[in-house]
Amino acid sequence: MDFLMQIATDLVASFHYVMKDADGAELGRTSDQPMTYLHGRHALLPGLERAMAGRSAGDRFTVTLSPQEAFGVTRADSEQRVPISHLRGAKKWRPGMRAVIHTRQGNREVTVVKVGHTMATIDTNHPMAGKTLVFEVEVLDVRKATAEELAHGHAHGPGGHHH
Ligand code: ZN
Repeated sequence: MDFLMQIATDLVASFHYVMKDADGAELGRTSDQPMTYLHGRHALLPGLERAMAGRSAGDRFTVTLSPQEAFGVTRADSEQRVPISHLRGAKKWRPGMRAVIHTRQGNREVTVVKVGHTMATIDTNHPMAGKTLVFEVEVLDVRKATAEELAHGHAHGPGGHHH
């Protein structure tokens, strides 16, 4: 049998996935292009990255992630009022739209809840917060990272970073 490289820190892996909620409704999937990432650099959801470790090309598996292992739990104090002028990403805001706000911790993605004349109410929870997620994964390829990928801390090429 051929030696198959197993996913470990500083290796690059490509995979296809289907992401579902706990009821089996599909929430997202890779298209023709697989996802390619550098293992051990927190490129994936924590629970998914843990489940990838030790897999090799051709492996298929299903992993269920608790909200804590995925996008976090829903926080009750997540609604805030901010000046509309602080929202970035669109000119005209409506409830349900995603916006970016600048905070001292960097850019943060939020959901617009209410829009007034000068102030908006935003929800800082991630839209997938509180969700249990099920990933069906097929590993396509595992390879060594290039020196440049290791220096950058991410994978290059199809499914990875382009720059
Ligand atoms: Zn790079």
